[in-house]
Amino acid sequence: MCARELISIDEARERVLAEVRPLATEHVPLSAGRVLAEPAVAYEDLPPFDASAMDGFAVPGADAGTLRIEGESRAGAPSARPLADGTACRISTGAVVPEGTYAVVPVEATEQRDGDVVVPATDAGANIRRAGEDVRAGEAVIAAGTEIGPAEVAVLASLGAPTVVCARIPLVAILATGDELVEPGMDLAPGQIRNSNAYGLAAQAERAGARVVMRERVADDLAETREMLAHALASADVVCVSGGVSVGPHDHVKPALAELGVSEHFWGVRLQPGKPTWFGTAPDGGLVFGLPGNPVSAMVTFHLFARPAIRALQGADPGIGAARARAGEPLRRNRKRDQMMRVRLEQGDDGWVARPTKAQGSHVLTSMLGADALARVPQGEGDVATGERIDIELL
Ligand code: AMP
Ligand code: MG
Repeated sequence: MCARELISIDEARERVLAEVRPLATEHVPLSAGRVLAEPAVAYEDLPPFDASAMDGFAVPGADAGTLRIEGESRAGAPSARPLADGTACRISTGAVVPEGTYAVVPVEATEQRDGDVVVPATDAGANIRRAGEDVRAGEAVIAAGTEIGPAEVAVLASLGAPTVVCARIPLVAILATGDELVEPGMDLAPGQIRNSNAYGLAAQAERAGARVVMRERVADDLAETREMLAHALASADVVCVSGGVSVGPHDHVKPALAELGVSEHFWGVRLQPGKPTWFGTAPDGGLVFGLPGNPVSAMVTFHLFARPAIRALQGADPGIGAARARAGEPLRRNRKRDQMMRVRLEQGDDGWVARPTKAQGSHVLTSMLGADALARVPQGEGDVATGERIDIELL
């Protein structure tokens, strides 16, 4: 594969995103984790009426003096009559301000005796929250493509809609190829290793907002690979297959995909770890990622290429999380490929400082532990010097 032309990380990501067609939408109950497919528009003013910001008294004018207490406006139970001159209306936080109110005086600032209340001078409109002060009816409050988190859930609930329109959840199939793979909990025979990719990739897919509908181990056998891939393509929007995508005699993924009519958009990225990454599309538009078998490479390439696609399928931005940091120590460059180093971030005087978590071999899976970001160390000679600025992508 050395003779092949490798493409850049950015080019690979562009080619992936160019193939994404957002999924159909559906009405879903309000909850976090989905992506809005349509802007959320306020049907009502928020607050819906002029409301008191304090427990106290609604007063009819600016002056200090003694007023007769008449009536009460409680949250959910407005006072029936307008405020008359010479009177004050008892009022609770969040209650409707009676007609004729000049301001609300907090109870702490008043003195009550024999059905009267002594109030200080007050400014017009003091302690009144105006109708529509936060949101006006008809206003678009949350843009399409926004991920619904707790703040969005609360705002959407305050706008009164019980459901929202979201793209359906992307379905992901994960196939881990390799005769050597054994599931956790089973005995390891000589030469066998744990099938960690199936678990790590599934967790990454779920975190990206997808539902994992299939997670299977596949033997290094052409017929089985083809059969499992056919099944995966029929049941998912995105198929991630790990391993078997190189050119060894036991790498059957590419020939099997070709037999199934999946067309290649790239194979080989100028990236370490993750050079042999493959991407293609099925005749029905399904996205297929052939991820390298090495566990770090599989996770890093999922993050760089599959995760943005899963987000884009939901109508969200790809969520690259681009930022900058300074190298906290010299970082050895690879002459021919950009590296995506697993780094921990610390707060420096001048923004983030990035340091590798540990050894960066593509088999050192524990280098993913505690990683805050992938730091892009551009290809070239020598080291990136301590203190030099580099691009990072937050994990
Ligand atoms: P391959 O791309 O199939 O040549 O695999 C490259 C390396 O990754 C080999 O050392 C494999 O044993 C290892 N590997 C492949 N699949 C997995 C997996 N699912 N979990 C952990 N390691 C794997
Ligand atoms: Mg293999």
